[in-house]
Amino acid sequence: MRTLQGRLDLCSINTATLGHREPLSSTIDRIAKAGFGGIAPWRREVEDTNVRDIARQIRSLGLTVTGYCRSTYLPAATRAQFAANIESNKAALLDAAELGARCFVMVVGGLPEGSRDLAGAREQVSEGIAELLGAARDSGVPLALEPLHPMYAADRSVLSTIEQALQVCDDVDPERSGFLGVAIDIYHCWWDPHLEASIQAAGRAGRIYAHHVCDWLRDTSDLLLDRGMMGDGVVDLRGIRGCVEDTGYNGLIEVEIFSRHNWWQRDPDEVLAICAQRLQTVC
Ligand code: ZN
Repeated sequence: MRTLQGRLDLCSINTATLGHREPLSSTIDRIAKAGFGGIAPWRREVEDTNVRDIARQIRSLGLTVTGYCRSTYLPAATRAQFAANIESNKAALLDAAELGARCFVMVVGGLPEGSRDLAGAREQVSEGIAELLGAARDSGVPLALEPLHPMYAADRSVLSTIEQALQVCDDVDPERSGFLGVAIDIYHCWWDPHLEASIQAAGRAGRIYAHHVCDWLRDTSDLLLDRGMMGDGVVDLRGIRGCVEDTGYNGLIEVEIFSRHNWWQRDPDEVLAICAQRLQTVC
């Protein structure tokens, strides 16, 4: 397992951690100045501006783009909407390529409005990923399926565990093309009794493309926007990172904290300084 002490070059900041409060170009400068090696921007920030300019700025500062967030949800009530969702993701993959992203983060979507057909939504997810795999190959950017905590199954992701995401990977990409894998976010998977075995299986298959950290607060007040700073919650961050890195993962460790009432209210430089300190001491 690598040490992160003095190695912020191994650490990345997902821009959501700073609350999307300023233009992306300012956020990029801030993250580079704080000494981090990577950044994970969001589509809404990039699509508001010129992707080439953003890509040039990121390159000039030597930052690795650890992921591009995130996919348009796949399941849809109509075939026309499903096709539109695929097209939207293909367009985003082109931007991900321009940015040199290590992966395109796929949050696959929940049930279409009014639907109770969970199995059908999962079928649409597999079908959609199969369609996008070719586009991922063409763009050179792998798809990283990010299973979300099951509390989001209705509205955000019918993929809830790493095991389930890996099954989709194996169904859609049995030859292990190198363009389909998973993002392991501790907020979503820390509770999973099969976590260690699933991480090992993902590693054996060469399918770990990202590792996201924050913490789960025991007294969390909001299941979307009250993620904790590393060290403030209950997750064995070092144990999970060790398990991920034991598989041979040598990518960056990305901090991703959605925190409306706490971290998004603080000075961005203070947030980055605390991220840096916690990465080096508790992660
Ligand atoms: Zn994540």
